[in-house]
Amino acid sequence: MRGVKRLGCLLLCAALLSGCGTPSRSETIFAMDTVMDLTAYGPHAQDALEAATAELSRIEALISAQREGSDLFSVNAAAQSGGEAATPVTEETAALLARTLALCADTDGALDVTIYPAVEAWGFYSGDYRVPAASDLEALRAQVDYRQVAVDGTSVVTHGQKLDLGAVGKGYAADQVTALWRELGLTSGLLNLGGNIQCLGAKPDGSDWVIGVRDPAGEGTLCTVTGQDMAVVTSGAYQRNFTQDGVTYHHILDPATCAPAESGAASVTVIGPSGLICDALSTALFVMGPDRASDYWQQRQDFDMIYYTQDGDLFYTSGLEGRLTLRDGLEGQMLTWKTAGS
Ligand code: AMP
Ligand code: MG
Repeated sequence: MRGVKRLGCLLLCAALLSGCGTPSRSETIFAMDTVMDLTAYGPHAQDALEAATAELSRIEALISAQREGSDLFSVNAAAQSGGEAATPVTEETAALLARTLALCADTDGALDVTIYPAVEAWGFYSGDYRVPAASDLEALRAQVDYRQVAVDGTSVVTHGQKLDLGAVGKGYAADQVTALWRELGLTSGLLNLGGNIQCLGAKPDGSDWVIGVRDPAGEGTLCTVTGQDMAVVTSGAYQRNFTQDGVTYHHILDPATCAPAESGAASVTVIGPSGLICDALSTALFVMGPDRASDYWQQRQDFDMIYYTQDGDLFYTSGLEGRLTLRDGLEGQMLTWKTAGS
């Protein structure tokens, strides 16, 4: 079993205490291999927490590749044969996989849902970490290719590929929980699912949430970002890694090499309305490196990002102007949208 993510590795949520008089309930649970903090406000706060806990374990049972009986477990077992296999899954998993495959294509394979055998080879599932031989990496590269996977109705068609939804699962789960909370009539709540923060509405007093982004080099914060109804999702080399012979290997793999991405990124935070999209993009933009990530943002422009490099440079997109407070001494560079020719 993979190690428990340390609480210290999580993004920090600030300013929870402002809604004097508004009832609130908080709970810390362990699900999806992550310590999660859930906070709900208002008269239905207790019901909201119970619904959230049940929803998170339901989603884990559905999409965890490691969980026997899950949809993904069945897909991966069928892929074992190496040939074409069509595995029936729930409508929900089919829809999630279809959305994820579209994001794999949109990021030109920087996100690749077929990364499973590479994650396994590096020991990130078992915790039995090892550096695969060059010949093993070459064999893995032939197995990792999202283009060989298709969703046909509620069947997942594979040609030997095994799937891992680790890069998007928590973002999807956060979307589901906030949707449930809205149905319950909540107007204010905060989820901290490891590197995934998701805010429902505003703080109970109506003001913006203030979310801290962790400094990859230590326990402090790099910056804070304010907003409402938003996901703030970070992928960082510091979140899961091991050191062998003086070299540190992290869990975000470049599908092109099947080895930890060496893109110059230290941490990438993506901010936007959808937890799933922010989660997919934080992983993909980490793999891309700062230049490709900046080009990708220019093309899409429907999200914001804070890109922190191993050299200590921080880039942020123009949608964060006025919403970002950088740590003392840290200078950031704002990326602005350029029209063709400007
Ligand atoms: P995240 O923490 O959201 O960046 O996701 C990292 C997790 O997703 C890893 O622990 C792996 O299980 C999986 N993963 C690693 N690299 C990739 C990749 N390039 N594309 C898709 N999933 C990946
Ligand atoms: Mg992710």
